[in-house]
Amino acid sequence: MNCLVCRKPFAIPWSPATLLKRDWVCPDCEGRLTPIISGCPRCGHPTEDGATCDDCIRWLALGLDLTVRSLYLYDEAGVNWLHRYKFGGDVVLANQMRPVLRQLREPDVVYVPIPLSEERLRTRRFNQAEVLARLIGPMERTLVKAEVSSQRELGKEERRHRANPFTVQRLPRCGKIVLVDDVYTTGTTLHQAALTLRRAGVEQVSAVCLFRTLNKLKMRPI
Ligand SMILES: [Zn+2]
Ligand SMILES: [Zn+2]
Repeated sequence: MNCLVCRKPFAIPWSPATLLKRDWVCPDCEGRLTPIISGCPRCGHPTEDGATCDDCIRWLALGLDLTVRSLYLYDEAGVNWLHRYKFGGDVVLANQMRPVLRQLREPDVVYVPIPLSEERLRTRRFNQAEVLARLIGPMERTLVKAEVSSQRELGKEERRHRANPFTVQRLPRCGKIVLVDDVYTTGTTLHQAALTLRRAGVEQVSAVCLFRTLNKLKMRPI
C-alpha cells in the first residue's frame, strides 16, 4: 500500500475494514499536520497570548467582522497535503479530515462552501471546499462565483478595484451560515463571500478553514 500524501509504501495491519478503506495515509504523514490550538481568536494566526492578529485588526477597521475557525497551519506538511488533495485530485484524502470536521458540526447551521467559478470547476472537476463542507454537516450551494482573471494578469490598479465575484444564487434555508474554505491566505475571499451573504439578509455568518497561511496579509478593499 502506498501513502496518498508521500507516495511511499507502508505496511498495514489486515482487518475486514481494510478491504473497504481507500484513504491510506502512512503514520508519518498522519501526525505531520500542525493543529491550531491557540493564536488569534478570529482566524487562528499564531499570536502571543492569543491576541487578535494585525490582519484581523485591519479587517475590523474596515468594518468587516468575521470569525474564522482555522484547523491547521499551512506549513510544509499542510502545503503537501493540500497539494495532493486539491491539485492531485485525491478527493478521497478528505476522508482523513472526517473526524476533525465532524466535531465542528453545530445544530441549525448550514455549511456553505466557497464556490469555484464554472471554468475552474471544469478543469479541477471537483470543488475542494464543497467536499469538506459535506463532511461537516448539511451543505448548501448558496453562492456562485464569477470568473475573474488571475491576479498575475491584473494590473495593480485593477487588482485594487477588483469587484466582489460572489453573488447569492438562492437564499439559504436558515439564518445561520458557516462558510467553508480550504485555505485562508489573504482573507479576501472569505470576507467577500461573508459580505455578500450579509447584504442578502443572512443574519449570522462565520467561517471554517482547513489551513491558515503564515504570510503577511496583502489586503484589497472589497
Ligand atoms: Zn506518507
Ligand atoms: Zn487573526
